[in-house]
Amino acid sequence: MVRVNRFVYTSSKNKCEIHEFSDASSRAYGCCIYARVLDNGKYVTSLIISRSSIPRLELCASVLLCQTWTKIKHKLNCLVSKTYFWTDSTVVLHWIKMHPSTLKCFIANRVSTIQTQSQDIIWSHVPGKDNPADIVSRGCAARDLMQTIWFHGPRFLALDALHWPKSERKTDFEPKELELRNTLVLKCSTSYKEKSIVEQIISRLSSFRMIVRVLAYVLRVFNRVPVNRNNTINATRSISVEEFKLAFDHIISYIQSDVFAKELKDLHAGRSLKTELEKLNPFISNEQIGSQNIRLIHVGGRLAMADILLDAKMPLLLPKTHNFTYKYIEDPHLRNLHARAKVLIAILRLTVWIVNARELVRKVVRGCTHCYLYKPVLML
Ligand SMILES: [Zn+2]
Repeated sequence: MVRVNRFVYTSSKNKCEIHEFSDASSRAYGCCIYARVLDNGKYVTSLIISRSSIPRLELCASVLLCQTWTKIKHKLNCLVSKTYFWTDSTVVLHWIKMHPSTLKCFIANRVSTIQTQSQDIIWSHVPGKDNPADIVSRGCAARDLMQTIWFHGPRFLALDALHWPKSERKTDFEPKELELRNTLVLKCSTSYKEKSIVEQIISRLSSFRMIVRVLAYVLRVFNRVPVNRNNTINATRSISVEEFKLAFDHIISYIQSDVFAKELKDLHAGRSLKTELEKLNPFISNEQIGSQNIRLIHVGGRLAMADILLDAKMPLLLPKTHNFTYKYIEDPHLRNLHARAKVLIAILRLTVWIVNARELVRKVVRGCTHCYLYKPVLML
């Protein structure tokens, strides 16, 4: 027969410490709670409550420990100075210090419960042989129970705190052992360069004329270009030739400052260019439109004295690498009855000078579906 003392030496005079133990085996998990009281200069430890359950895992035992303590703590009328929770599982101690979001669902839910219910409680490691909850989890015959540490807890509780087991600080757990949640890491960089409005219009529209017209409308709004005598903007009115020319110059100026930035700097400083562009005799023109100064690179040359249009004498420099140039070449190709490469280059040079134009112009002609289907021949 087993006799259990109901008195646990707790009174309002004595300071009481609570020590709680949990353990699990493959057969069961359990917990037990002891009161440690200093009575006549001697520490007396008594079992307050014990619970066990069938399933597995030290973690469940720790949850059971928290739930049991929450259930009985308000019934202890003595002054509890400190509460210690003990477990012989280093993994559980590690889990309790982790954020639940990093753990798998089953573990995370229980760790969250433990963290909520055991705030301000000291979690420590106890060796398996000193863990009274081990008796709960493994089971013990009634006749052997008196020989165990079951009723009074581990012997170290009778000693000063200095002689208690030191917590093991194991940190080298296998990720599988910790049952970490699989996380998808999305790496973001902030190297995104905001596109200018000109670049956005060029990239979104496929037709050269559409690009220039849309930009002309945008400039009309931005610059408040007066379009009638009352100095008001009529949004329904079509784009004038001047507005079209202004928008076109804006686009060319933008592309040149983007692609020929170094050349533009050298020309502005009066230095000769170190590139093959030097032989084209380029120069900068400044056009003042309203409050804006548009800088454009023209190609100079031997036609300065020729009796031809100014644009043809000094065409604007255009790089072949920019996608606007491809769209720009398509326009005269279509408007000149699918002109072949040789004719197209001559037409283009009336307004712009495309560096190494021949290759790109041939590409535009080859890319034209109509030319591919009907193969037009130049009629002489
Ligand atoms: Zn064509």
